[in-house]
Amino acid sequence: MAKQLADQHTKMKQQVKDIQLYIDGQFVDAEHNRVFENSSPFTNETINKVAMGEQADIDKAVHAAKNAFKGEWGKLKVKDRLAYIYKIADLIDEHIDEIAPLESFDTGLPISQTKKMVSRAAYNFRFYAEMVATRMVGEAYQVDDEFLNYTIHKPVGVAGLITPWNAPFMLETWKLAPALATGNTVVLKPAEWSPLTANRLAEIIDKAGLPNGVFNVVHGYGETAGASLVAHPDVALISFTGETKTGSEIIKNGADWLKRFSMELGGKSPIIVFEDADIERALDACTWGIFSFNGERCTANSRLYIHETVAEPFIEKLKQRIVNIKVGDPLESDTLVGPLIHKEHYTNVKNYLKLAEEEGCEVISGNIPPGNGNFIAPTLLLHARNDMRVVQEEIFGPVIAAMTFTDEEEVIELANDVRYGLAGYVWTKDIQRGHRVAQAIESGMLWVNSQNVRDLRTPFGGAKHSGIGREGGHYAFEFYTETQIIHVALKDHYIPQFGK
Ligand code: NAD
Repeated sequence: MAKQLADQHTKMKQQVKDIQLYIDGQFVDAEHNRVFENSSPFTNETINKVAMGEQADIDKAVHAAKNAFKGEWGKLKVKDRLAYIYKIADLIDEHIDEIAPLESFDTGLPISQTKKMVSRAAYNFRFYAEMVATRMVGEAYQVDDEFLNYTIHKPVGVAGLITPWNAPFMLETWKLAPALATGNTVVLKPAEWSPLTANRLAEIIDKAGLPNGVFNVVHGYGETAGASLVAHPDVALISFTGETKTGSEIIKNGADWLKRFSMELGGKSPIIVFEDADIERALDACTWGIFSFNGERCTANSRLYIHETVAEPFIEKLKQRIVNIKVGDPLESDTLVGPLIHKEHYTNVKNYLKLAEEEGCEVISGNIPPGNGNFIAPTLLLHARNDMRVVQEEIFGPVIAAMTFTDEEEVIELANDVRYGLAGYVWTKDIQRGHRVAQAIESGMLWVNSQNVRDLRTPFGGAKHSGIGREGGHYAFEFYTETQIIHVALKDHYIPQFGK
């Protein structure tokens, strides 16, 4: 079995080619011919070389996107535009069994999870095609018999999408689907640590036959390619998902051009388990919520607040789960936690584990396999306190800090005592308390008696330092379109006659 898997990695490595940029319907090298290396999270060996886009390439891509917007794409009938969107969805679905292993190979995310992510990526396109067809509607305001005022939604122009590595294909499509379906053209700057499926997305869109320049991919580093996209005067909006620090830098860099920003940023989300909760279900949700996606999940429940009367049995069971979780090869079907994306991120998480000890936590870890992969065992931090850095800062790995509480008021205060406000989870059978605590938590999203289950119609986004704006459902229209109000006089109403 082990040999078979090693062979699978070797085979994948042989299949993966060097990657070019995708600009104006062509796969091209970077203007300055520079490349960067992409490595495997499982072996830390180089997988392939990737064209390193910089300002000149961003300029080319934005130029192509601007022309496409003014040209064929901008003139298409909505039904013809949406036919392309459905075609992309179909092509993704046809290739799930090939895209999912590629994503796992590149990111270390377990194959059982990337299969779901890729399937969701296809759904992102279908969902937004349906949303645009049925819900992208204006409003009419009748003012007596004098005026009819009405709103329309117009595409904004060239959309800049900047994405992270933690669920790359899914997050790229989560932005791309509404951006294209509403009629914009796009330049995508994917994360430099996970370029493979972004390139596959370009190949799929190329196959779907979208007019040249509608979709462009410029690989490269954030400080160069990303920053050039943000600063480009012809890019009307930037949809960004990534770290809070990067988000704030991007806002500063785009300020001179008064860019429109959507910011999906970091998190340090609480899970609160009251004494009357269904403990087994809460435990299932808690372990899944922190250890799925290798813990590299923005909405991960990385802070556990457990009521003191049920803390002991809950923690004991959590410890057992941690030991049982299979950490291993991301291409193996029963792996639950794979290696972290990159050596640099692995070192960051390792440093947090060291810090946890220094801050006085008891660090309880599960098992990792041998080898050179960036493996971090599922880890529980006991005796944590809210004032510790490991409780305040986003670790973005399979690490959960546990704390006990006595009453509702106290736990609300503890849960809100961080700068982040992305998600939250409350477990109780008391319906009144469930709603009360849910509403008191300062987060963009909150689940009661559930793990993170997404309904794509609902708003997605964070409060406080976790984000600005909401994507998802019709909320995406507010970001990806310009709402124009048209005022029409229905009769000869009074007009002041200055200087007559
Ligand atoms: P990151 O901020 O390091 O990078 C994200 C993207 O921004 C990359 O493509 C990067 O190249 C680019 N970038 C970096 N500096 C830039 C600059 N100066 N100008 C323009 N672009 C720049 O984030 P990451 O490490 O890739 O991702 C992990 C982070 O993403 C975590 O904080 C996580 O919580 C967050 N995240 C948030 C959500 C959400 O929906 N709120 C979802 C997923 C991930």
